[in-house]
Amino acid sequence: MAWIDLVVCILLFVLLVYVFVSVTITNLHKAYLVFHFAMMLWPFCQFAIKIADTTKLQLFYVKLAFVDMALLAVGWLFFTILLTNHSLLSRIRKISFLIPIPALLTAVAAIFNPNAMFVQPIHGGYIQRIYGPLFWITAVILIGYGIVSLYIIFQTLVSENAPRIKKKVKQVLRGIVVVIGFIAADILINVVFPISQKVTPGLTSLGILFSAVFFIIAINRDKVFDIVTIAHQDIINTITLGILVLDDNEIIVEINQSLPSHIDLHTGERFDITTILPPQEPVNSMITFIKTYQEHPLESVEIEVLYQKLDPSYVHIHVSPILVGGTRLGRIITFQDMSELRRLINETTLQNDILQERNLSLTTIQRELYLTNQKLQKMAITDGLTGCYNRSYLTQQLEHEVIKNMKYQIPFSILLLDIDFFKLINDNYGHLVGDEVICSTVKAIQGKLRQTDILARFGGEEFIIYLPNTPSAHALHLAEQVRTAVESNVITVPHSIESISITVSIGLLSIHNFSIEMNPDSRTMINDMFQAVDQVLYQAKREGRNRMVGTIK
Ligand code: GH3
Ligand code: MG
Ligand code: MG
Repeated sequence: MAWIDLVVCILLFVLLVYVFVSVTITNLHKAYLVFHFAMMLWPFCQFAIKIADTTKLQLFYVKLAFVDMALLAVGWLFFTILLTNHSLLSRIRKISFLIPIPALLTAVAAIFNPNAMFVQPIHGGYIQRIYGPLFWITAVILIGYGIVSLYIIFQTLVSENAPRIKKKVKQVLRGIVVVIGFIAADILINVVFPISQKVTPGLTSLGILFSAVFFIIAINRDKVFDIVTIAHQDIINTITLGILVLDDNEIIVEINQSLPSHIDLHTGERFDITTILPPQEPVNSMITFIKTYQEHPLESVEIEVLYQKLDPSYVHIHVSPILVGGTRLGRIITFQDMSELRRLINETTLQNDILQERNLSLTTIQRELYLTNQKLQKMAITDGLTGCYNRSYLTQQLEHEVIKNMKYQIPFSILLLDIDFFKLINDNYGHLVGDEVICSTVKAIQGKLRQTDILARFGGEEFIIYLPNTPSAHALHLAEQVRTAVESNVITVPHSIESISITVSIGLLSIHNFSIEMNPDSRTMINDMFQAVDQVLYQAKREGRNRMVGTIK
């Protein structure tokens, strides 16, 4: 029944290990826990050997002590490398599995103790014992670990210049020297040169204790175990995001320095979400936010609020539950200042508006330019007084038309009109009335023409009409219609009861015959045509005016 206390003790220790392994600690913490346990186990075994009442049990503790020593040797080497020459760990990663093998062999030798070659009892017990050759091999191997550790430390001291690291390495050196010293003393005093039958107890245990102290000082000085936590804390304290952590009772657990300056909260206080929201009339979105926050603690919820105090600032508040395995442990609330982003967005929108406005005025200018251009184009081809085409446009058109007509042998005609006795109109009624008469006559002529006919002012009160695809018979008919339309056109004199009627003389030229050798130069040909039509017009004048004389070519 005496075992029950030991079993309880071991179970409690297992529970301790379980707690450490299951909480969020690094692998390094876990490795140190095992190492520390191994350090505790040696003195425990020494104690247990002495109080064990059976030889079997004593032997068990002796074996356990040496298995433990093998573990310690590997542990010392590992922590020595970690504390002094960290980069070595990654360099030997591939062969690191070889490191514990010699120690493992010593453990095997201790466990099996073949032919009592490791340890033998004296006086039927193991309180005093004789060590065999396997023990000495074990001792050499284990001291070998110590020597390798010393070598690594020596190498680091030689190559390392930073005084802070040198200090730490020296500390580890003390740890290793102390433990090797004590173990050597233990072996010398108790095994090699036993002064009396009485064993001097606790030497190796003390060595382990001092070495643990040196190791712990080195570890604490360098914050080896805290590096991740320190880094997290550093990030939390320097990040621009305000962070607030609450437990499941809404008690503030943690606050960082980036909370909006006017939010005055302290750890340990009970948190009330409504106190940190801006005091202005709660809008719908804020009511929903508060409601979700209070009634659905498992949901994430967010809102953007405007704090009017001092500088108006937009803050994005995000609340999310801290869940572990479906259980809510608390909440994390973050505050992100959106003012700069908002300002940038506003500025961009403004710039965009300005650009759009500019774009709009550019489009207007473009449209105006287009219209002006069209007007200019029209002005370039029309006659300012009458609105019909001008002479240069007609000539241009004729150049194409003549070539086309020649090519396809299409008959066409040209009419040249001149108002009869127009000087008299000017003399009697003045130039303005004369202009009016010219315009009115153009309208009368246009009324008789087809869409495809081209009427152009040839100069003064003379007009030319191109009749495409029109043989002489049809052209004669059209010319006659034009002549009568002008004759019957009555023009009222402005501010007078008088009215004017005028007549025109018309020369007609029809081109039918394309077989004769034509002038290949269309411009010369046009001039020839003008000359020909001018002659017949002159003839019409001579024959008494208000008539049409035609010629066919
Ligand atoms: P004819 O029957 O022989 O043609 O006699 P006419 O008086 O019409 O003589 P002519 O054709 O040689 O004279 C043209 C006149 O038309 C001369 C000029 O004063 C006048 N005239 C030319 N262009 C314009 C114009 O744009 N407006 C006005 N009001 N008169 C013009
Ligand atoms: Mg004339
Ligand atoms: Mg005339």
